[in-house]
Amino acid sequence: MEHFDVAIIGGGPIGIACGLEAKKKGLTYVILEKGPIVNSLFNYPVNMQFFSSSERLEIDDVPFISKEAKPKRSEALEYYRRIATSNELNIKLFEKVESVSKTNQNFTIVSNKNKYNSQNVIVATGFYDLPNLLKVPGENLAKVSHYYKDPHFYAGQKLAVIGASNSAIDAALECWRKGSDVTLIIRGPEVGKRVKYWVRPDIINRIEEESIKVFYNSTVKEITENEILIDSPKGPIRLENDFVLALTGYMPNFNFLKKIGIELSKDDKKLPKYNPETMETNVEGIYLAGVICGGMETHKWFIENSRVHAPMIMANIVSKKKA
Ligand SMILES: Cc1cc2nc3c(=O)[nH]c(=O)nc-3n(C[C@H](O)[C@H](O)[C@H](O)COP(=O)(O)OP(=O)(O)OC[C@H]3O[C@@H](n4cnc5c(N)ncnc54)[C@H](O)[C@@H]3O)c2cc1C
Repeated sequence: MEHFDVAIIGGGPIGIACGLEAKKKGLTYVILEKGPIVNSLFNYPVNMQFFSSSERLEIDDVPFISKEAKPKRSEALEYYRRIATSNELNIKLFEKVESVSKTNQNFTIVSNKNKYNSQNVIVATGFYDLPNLLKVPGENLAKVSHYYKDPHFYAGQKLAVIGASNSAIDAALECWRKGSDVTLIIRGPEVGKRVKYWVRPDIINRIEEESIKVFYNSTVKEITENEILIDSPKGPIRLENDFVLALTGYMPNFNFLKKIGIELSKDDKKLPKYNPETMETNVEGIYLAGVICGGMETHKWFIENSRVHAPMIMANIVSKKKA
Protein backbone atom coordinates (compact mmCIF):
# COMPACT_ATOMS: atom_id res chain seq x y z
CA MET A 1 0.00 0.00 0.00
CA GLU A 2 1.36 3.46 -0.95
CA HIS A 3 1.93 5.82 2.00
CA PHE A 4 1.52 9.62 1.83
CA ASP A 5 1.76 12.63 4.15
CA VAL A 6 -1.60 13.72 2.83
CA ALA A 7 -4.42 12.22 0.77
CA ILE A 8 -6.73 14.75 -0.88
CA ILE A 9 -10.24 13.56 -1.73
CA GLY A 10 -11.65 15.56 -4.66
CA GLY A 11 -9.84 17.02 -7.68
CA GLY A 12 -11.85 20.23 -7.97
CA PRO A 13 -10.17 23.66 -8.01
CA ILE A 14 -9.57 23.51 -4.26
CA GLY A 15 -8.32 19.90 -4.21
CA ILE A 16 -5.87 20.91 -6.95
CA ALA A 17 -4.81 23.97 -4.91
CA CYS A 18 -4.16 21.63 -1.96
CA GLY A 19 -2.04 19.32 -4.17
CA LEU A 20 0.04 22.25 -5.44
CA GLU A 21 0.60 23.55 -1.93
CA ALA A 22 1.57 20.09 -0.64
CA LYS A 23 4.08 19.77 -3.49
CA LYS A 24 5.54 23.21 -2.70
CA LYS A 25 5.96 22.26 0.95
CA GLY A 26 7.76 19.02 0.01
CA LEU A 27 4.99 16.77 1.34
CA THR A 28 4.09 13.48 -0.33
CA TYR A 29 0.48 13.59 -1.50
CA VAL A 30 -2.14 12.03 -3.73
CA ILE A 31 -5.34 13.57 -5.11
CA LEU A 32 -8.18 11.09 -5.62
CA GLU A 33 -10.87 12.28 -8.01
CA LYS A 34 -13.93 10.21 -8.93
CA GLY A 35 -14.30 11.82 -12.37
CA PRO A 36 -12.16 13.84 -14.78
CA ILE A 37 -10.05 16.81 -13.59
CA VAL A 38 -12.40 19.43 -12.03
CA ASN A 39 -15.36 17.13 -12.49
CA SER A 40 -17.95 19.60 -11.14
CA LEU A 41 -16.88 22.29 -13.62
CA PHE A 42 -16.89 19.69 -16.39
CA ASN A 43 -20.56 19.01 -15.55
CA TYR A 44 -21.61 22.68 -15.53
CA PRO A 45 -23.76 23.95 -18.43
CA VAL A 46 -21.66 24.09 -21.63
CA ASN A 47 -22.04 27.88 -22.07
CA MET A 48 -21.77 28.77 -18.38
CA GLN A 49 -20.02 32.00 -17.44
CA PHE A 50 -18.58 32.44 -13.93
CA PHE A 51 -19.78 35.32 -11.78
CA SER A 52 -16.19 35.78 -10.56
CA SER A 53 -13.60 37.52 -12.65
CA SER A 54 -10.74 35.27 -13.71
CA GLU A 55 -8.10 36.61 -11.29
CA ARG A 56 -10.39 35.62 -8.39
CA LEU A 57 -10.40 32.01 -9.60
CA GLU A 58 -6.61 31.81 -9.75
CA ILE A 59 -4.82 29.31 -7.56
CA ASP A 60 -1.23 29.54 -6.40
CA ASP A 61 -0.95 32.95 -8.17
CA VAL A 62 -0.88 31.28 -11.60
CA PRO A 63 -2.34 33.91 -13.98
CA PHE A 64 -5.75 33.04 -15.43
CA ILE A 65 -6.24 34.88 -18.73
CA SER A 66 -9.75 34.92 -20.17
CA LYS A 67 -11.27 36.68 -23.18
CA GLU A 68 -13.82 38.57 -21.09
CA ALA A 69 -13.40 39.67 -17.47
CA LYS A 70 -15.54 36.75 -16.31
CA PRO A 71 -14.38 33.46 -17.76
CA LYS A 72 -16.45 30.76 -19.43
CA ARG A 73 -16.57 27.14 -18.30
CA SER A 74 -14.33 26.07 -21.22
CA GLU A 75 -11.63 28.57 -20.17
CA ALA A 76 -11.77 27.38 -16.56
CA LEU A 77 -11.40 23.74 -17.69
CA GLU A 78 -8.37 24.76 -19.73
CA TYR A 79 -6.87 26.70 -16.80
CA TYR A 80 -7.22 24.03 -14.09
CA ARG A 81 -6.26 21.18 -16.45
CA ARG A 82 -3.09 22.99 -17.50
CA ILE A 83 -2.18 23.60 -13.86
CA ALA A 84 -2.65 19.91 -13.01
CA THR A 85 -0.71 18.63 -16.04
CA SER A 86 2.13 21.17 -16.18
CA ASN A 87 2.86 20.68 -12.48
CA GLU A 88 2.62 16.90 -12.93
CA LEU A 89 0.31 16.69 -9.95
CA ASN A 90 -0.13 13.23 -8.51
CA ILE A 91 -3.83 12.95 -9.33
CA LYS A 92 -5.67 9.66 -9.81
CA LEU A 93 -8.75 10.17 -11.96
CA PHE A 94 -11.98 8.17 -12.06
CA GLU A 95 -11.15 6.87 -8.61
CA LYS A 96 -13.97 7.26 -6.10
CA VAL A 97 -13.13 7.20 -2.39
CA GLU A 98 -15.50 4.85 -0.63
CA SER A 99 -14.18 4.82 2.94
CA VAL A 100 -11.65 6.41 5.27
CA SER A 101 -10.72 4.68 8.52
CA LYS A 102 -8.24 5.61 11.23
CA THR A 103 -5.89 3.28 13.08
CA ASN A 104 -3.54 4.94 15.59
CA GLN A 105 -2.25 8.04 13.71
CA ASN A 106 -2.79 6.65 10.21
CA PHE A 107 -5.67 6.66 7.78
CA THR A 108 -6.57 3.92 5.33
CA ILE A 109 -8.35 5.30 2.29
CA VAL A 110 -10.21 2.82 0.13
CA SER A 111 -11.28 3.75 -3.39
CA ASN A 112 -13.08 1.73 -6.06
CA LYS A 113 -9.63 0.86 -7.50
CA ASN A 114 -7.04 0.96 -4.73
CA LYS A 115 -6.06 1.34 -1.08
CA TYR A 116 -3.83 4.12 0.31
CA ASN A 117 -2.23 4.91 3.62
CA SER A 118 -1.88 8.50 4.75
CA GLN A 119 -0.96 10.56 7.79
CA ASN A 120 -3.56 13.23 6.95
CA VAL A 121 -6.70 13.45 4.84
CA ILE A 122 -8.27 16.49 3.18
CA VAL A 123 -11.92 16.27 2.19
CA ALA A 124 -12.49 18.65 -0.75
CA THR A 125 -15.52 16.96 -2.27
CA GLY A 126 -17.65 20.07 -2.92
CA PHE A 127 -21.45 19.95 -3.13
CA TYR A 128 -22.35 19.38 -6.79
CA ASP A 129 -23.04 15.62 -6.65
CA LEU A 130 -26.30 15.66 -4.72
CA PRO A 131 -29.25 17.80 -5.88
CA ASN A 132 -31.88 19.12 -3.44
CA LEU A 133 -34.82 16.94 -4.44
CA LEU A 134 -38.36 18.21 -4.94
CA LYS A 135 -39.72 15.02 -3.37
CA VAL A 136 -42.86 15.00 -5.53
CA PRO A 137 -44.43 12.19 -7.57
CA GLY A 138 -42.89 11.97 -11.05
CA GLU A 139 -39.52 13.43 -10.07
CA ASN A 140 -37.79 10.27 -11.25
CA LEU A 141 -39.28 10.41 -14.78
CA ALA A 142 -36.68 10.56 -17.57
CA LYS A 143 -37.93 14.03 -18.63
CA VAL A 144 -36.86 15.53 -15.27
CA SER A 145 -33.27 16.61 -14.70
CA HIS A 146 -31.48 18.35 -11.83
CA TYR A 147 -28.58 19.31 -14.10
CA TYR A 148 -28.75 21.57 -17.13
CA LYS A 149 -26.26 21.13 -19.93
CA ASP A 150 -27.21 22.46 -23.37
CA PRO A 151 -30.17 24.55 -24.63
CA HIS A 152 -30.28 22.82 -28.06
CA PHE A 153 -31.90 19.78 -26.44
CA TYR A 154 -35.00 21.75 -25.39
CA ALA A 155 -35.67 23.64 -28.65
CA GLY A 156 -39.37 23.55 -29.62
CA GLN A 157 -40.30 21.93 -26.29
CA LYS A 158 -42.49 23.01 -23.39
CA LEU A 159 -39.93 23.41 -20.63
CA ALA A 160 -40.61 24.06 -16.94
CA VAL A 161 -37.63 25.48 -15.04
CA ILE A 162 -37.93 25.28 -11.26
CA GLY A 163 -35.79 27.65 -9.19
CA ALA A 164 -34.94 31.33 -8.86
CA SER A 165 -31.17 31.53 -8.64
CA ASN A 166 -28.32 31.66 -11.14
CA SER A 167 -28.56 28.11 -12.52
CA ALA A 168 -32.33 28.30 -13.10
CA ILE A 169 -32.30 31.80 -14.57
CA ASP A 170 -29.36 31.07 -16.91
CA ALA A 171 -31.14 27.92 -18.14
CA ALA A 172 -34.50 29.69 -18.62
CA LEU A 173 -32.95 32.50 -20.68
CA GLU A 174 -30.70 30.30 -22.81
CA CYS A 175 -33.44 27.78 -23.60
CA TRP A 176 -35.96 30.52 -24.45
CA ARG A 177 -33.38 32.04 -26.84
CA LYS A 178 -33.01 28.66 -28.56
CA GLY A 179 -36.75 28.29 -29.07
CA SER A 180 -38.16 26.59 -25.96
CA ASP A 181 -41.52 27.55 -24.54
CA VAL A 182 -40.28 28.31 -21.00
CA THR A 183 -42.26 28.53 -17.76
CA LEU A 184 -40.41 29.46 -14.57
CA ILE A 185 -41.74 28.18 -11.26
CA ILE A 186 -40.44 30.16 -8.30
CA ARG A 187 -41.17 29.30 -4.65
CA GLY A 188 -40.72 32.90 -3.43
CA PRO A 189 -42.14 36.24 -4.58
CA GLU A 190 -39.33 37.23 -6.99
CA VAL A 191 -36.26 36.27 -9.01
CA GLY A 192 -33.37 35.56 -6.61
CA LYS A 193 -31.45 38.59 -5.36
CA ARG A 194 -28.11 36.83 -5.93
CA VAL A 195 -28.70 36.34 -9.66
CA LYS A 196 -25.74 37.83 -11.58
CA TYR A 197 -26.24 41.62 -11.77
CA TRP A 198 -25.98 41.66 -15.57
CA VAL A 199 -28.47 38.76 -15.97
CA ARG A 200 -31.20 39.89 -13.56
CA PRO A 201 -32.52 42.80 -15.72
CA ASP A 202 -32.58 40.46 -18.73
CA ILE A 203 -34.85 37.90 -17.03
CA ILE A 204 -37.08 40.58 -15.47
CA ASN A 205 -37.60 42.16 -18.91
CA ARG A 206 -38.34 38.79 -20.55
CA ILE A 207 -40.91 38.08 -17.81
CA GLU A 208 -42.49 41.53 -18.11
CA GLU A 209 -42.87 41.23 -21.89
CA GLU A 210 -44.33 37.71 -21.26
CA SER A 211 -41.75 35.95 -23.42
CA ILE A 212 -41.03 33.74 -20.40
CA LYS A 213 -44.00 32.82 -18.22
CA VAL A 214 -43.57 32.80 -14.45
CA PHE A 215 -45.45 31.49 -11.42
CA TYR A 216 -44.28 33.19 -8.21
CA ASN A 217 -45.05 31.85 -4.71
CA SER A 218 -45.66 28.51 -6.40
CA THR A 219 -44.45 24.94 -6.00
CA VAL A 220 -44.64 21.86 -8.18
CA LYS A 221 -46.86 19.16 -6.72
CA GLU A 222 -46.68 16.44 -9.34
CA ILE A 223 -45.00 15.68 -12.67
CA THR A 224 -46.50 13.31 -15.23
CA GLU A 225 -45.36 12.31 -18.74
CA ASN A 226 -47.29 15.20 -20.38
CA GLU A 227 -48.09 17.67 -17.59
CA ILE A 228 -47.01 19.34 -14.38
CA LEU A 229 -49.28 20.25 -11.52
CA ILE A 230 -48.47 23.56 -9.82
CA ASP A 231 -49.74 24.82 -6.49
CA SER A 232 -50.07 28.57 -7.11
CA PRO A 233 -51.69 31.50 -5.22
CA LYS A 234 -54.55 31.19 -7.76
CA GLY A 235 -55.04 27.52 -6.82
CA PRO A 236 -53.85 24.32 -8.54
CA ILE A 237 -52.78 24.73 -12.18
CA ARG A 238 -52.07 22.00 -14.73
CA LEU A 239 -49.67 22.83 -17.56
CA GLU A 240 -48.76 20.85 -20.65
CA ASN A 241 -45.11 19.93 -20.31
CA ASP A 242 -42.35 18.05 -22.16
CA PHE A 243 -39.32 18.58 -19.89
CA VAL A 244 -38.56 19.76 -16.36
CA LEU A 245 -35.30 21.29 -15.15
CA ALA A 246 -35.41 21.24 -11.35
CA LEU A 247 -32.52 23.58 -10.54
CA THR A 248 -33.12 23.99 -6.83
CA GLY A 249 -29.55 23.71 -5.57
CA TYR A 250 -27.21 21.01 -4.36
CA MET A 251 -25.82 19.77 -1.06
CA PRO A 252 -22.64 18.15 0.27
CA ASN A 253 -22.54 14.41 0.89
CA PHE A 254 -23.37 14.51 4.61
CA ASN A 255 -23.50 10.71 4.92
CA PHE A 256 -19.87 10.49 3.79
CA LEU A 257 -18.84 13.18 6.32
CA LYS A 258 -20.69 11.41 9.15
CA LYS A 259 -19.27 8.02 8.15
CA ILE A 260 -15.72 9.32 8.55
CA GLY A 261 -16.55 10.80 11.96
CA ILE A 262 -17.06 14.50 11.19
CA GLU A 263 -19.65 16.13 13.45
CA LEU A 264 -22.39 18.28 11.89
CA SER A 265 -24.39 21.04 13.58
CA LYS A 266 -27.82 19.81 14.66
CA ASP A 267 -29.71 22.65 12.91
CA ASP A 268 -30.79 22.81 9.26
CA LYS A 269 -27.42 24.27 8.21
CA LYS A 270 -25.61 20.97 9.00
CA LEU A 271 -22.33 22.82 9.37
CA PRO A 272 -19.36 20.45 9.65
CA LYS A 273 -17.17 20.99 12.71
CA TYR A 274 -13.69 22.37 11.99
CA ASN A 275 -11.17 24.83 13.36
CA PRO A 276 -11.40 27.93 11.09
CA GLU A 277 -7.70 28.69 11.63
CA THR A 278 -6.37 25.31 10.54
CA MET A 279 -9.39 23.73 8.75
CA GLU A 280 -8.84 20.57 10.87
CA THR A 281 -12.09 18.82 11.82
CA ASN A 282 -13.05 17.19 15.09
CA VAL A 283 -11.21 14.09 13.77
CA GLU A 284 -7.50 14.85 14.24
CA GLY A 285 -5.72 14.62 10.89
CA ILE A 286 -8.86 15.11 8.74
CA TYR A 287 -9.21 18.57 7.19
CA LEU A 288 -11.94 20.23 5.10
CA ALA A 289 -11.22 22.44 2.10
CA GLY A 290 -13.39 24.32 -0.38
CA VAL A 291 -17.12 24.75 -0.62
CA ILE A 292 -17.92 21.66 1.45
CA CYS A 293 -17.24 23.74 4.59
CA GLY A 294 -20.56 25.55 4.31
CA GLY A 295 -22.87 22.58 4.89
CA MET A 296 -26.31 23.52 3.52
CA GLU A 297 -25.17 27.13 3.20
CA THR A 298 -23.81 26.50 -0.27
CA HIS A 299 -23.75 30.19 -1.20
CA LYS A 300 -21.16 31.08 1.48
CA TRP A 301 -18.05 29.49 0.01
CA PHE A 302 -16.73 29.85 -3.51
CA ILE A 303 -13.43 29.25 -5.26
CA GLU A 304 -12.78 32.95 -4.57
CA ASN A 305 -12.84 32.74 -0.80
CA SER A 306 -11.93 29.10 -0.21
CA ARG A 307 -8.68 28.89 -2.22
CA VAL A 308 -6.90 30.11 0.97
CA HIS A 309 -7.74 26.81 2.65
CA ALA A 310 -4.84 25.09 0.86
CA PRO A 311 -1.99 27.14 2.43
CA MET A 312 -3.75 27.14 5.82
CA ILE A 313 -3.98 23.33 5.89
CA MET A 314 -0.45 22.69 4.63
CA ALA A 315 1.03 25.14 7.17
CA ASN A 316 -0.69 23.17 9.92
CA ILE A 317 0.43 19.77 8.58
CA VAL A 318 4.03 21.00 8.26
CA SER A 319 4.05 22.46 11.78
CA LYS A 320 2.76 19.15 13.20
CA LYS A 321 5.42 17.23 11.26
CA LYS A 322 8.16 19.40 12.75
CA ALA A 323 6.79 19.11 16.32
C1 LIG B 1 -23.20 26.64 -11.66
C2 LIG B 1 -22.17 27.10 -10.65
C3 LIG B 1 -21.48 28.30 -10.87
C4 LIG B 1 -20.49 28.75 -9.99
N1 LIG B 1 -19.83 29.91 -10.23
C5 LIG B 1 -18.84 30.32 -9.38
C6 LIG B 1 -18.08 31.51 -9.61
O1 LIG B 1 -18.32 32.26 -10.54
N2 LIG B 1 -17.09 31.84 -8.74
C7 LIG B 1 -16.78 31.06 -7.67
O2 LIG B 1 -15.83 31.38 -6.93
N3 LIG B 1 -17.49 29.94 -7.42
C8 LIG B 1 -18.51 29.57 -8.23
N4 LIG B 1 -19.24 28.44 -7.95
C9 LIG B 1 -18.95 27.74 -6.73
C10 LIG B 1 -17.63 26.98 -6.85
O3 LIG B 1 -16.95 27.36 -7.98
C11 LIG B 1 -17.76 25.58 -7.11
O4 LIG B 1 -18.64 25.01 -6.22
C12 LIG B 1 -16.35 24.96 -7.09
O5 LIG B 1 -16.36 23.89 -7.98
C13 LIG B 1 -15.90 24.58 -5.71
O6 LIG B 1 -14.65 23.95 -5.73
P1 LIG B 1 -14.32 22.70 -4.78
O7 LIG B 1 -12.98 22.22 -5.22
O8 LIG B 1 -14.53 23.07 -3.35
O9 LIG B 1 -15.44 21.64 -5.12
P2 LIG B 1 -15.75 20.89 -6.51
O10 LIG B 1 -15.28 21.68 -7.66
O11 LIG B 1 -17.19 20.50 -6.47
O12 LIG B 1 -14.81 19.62 -6.44
C14 LIG B 1 -15.13 18.49 -5.69
C15 LIG B 1 -14.61 17.29 -6.42
O13 LIG B 1 -14.69 16.16 -5.57
C16 LIG B 1 -15.00 15.05 -6.38
N5 LIG B 1 -15.55 14.02 -5.47
C17 LIG B 1 -16.71 14.05 -4.78
N6 LIG B 1 -16.85 12.93 -4.03
C18 LIG B 1 -15.74 12.18 -4.26
C19 LIG B 1 -15.30 10.91 -3.79
N7 LIG B 1 -16.01 10.18 -2.91
N8 LIG B 1 -14.10 10.43 -4.24
C20 LIG B 1 -13.34 11.15 -5.12
N9 LIG B 1 -13.73 12.36 -5.60
C21 LIG B 1 -14.91 12.86 -5.17
C22 LIG B 1 -15.99 15.59 -7.40
O14 LIG B 1 -16.05 14.78 -8.54
C23 LIG B 1 -15.42 16.97 -7.67
O15 LIG B 1 -14.55 17.01 -8.79
C24 LIG B 1 -20.21 27.98 -8.83
C25 LIG B 1 -20.92 26.78 -8.59
C26 LIG B 1 -21.90 26.36 -9.48
C27 LIG B 1 -22.64 25.08 -9.19
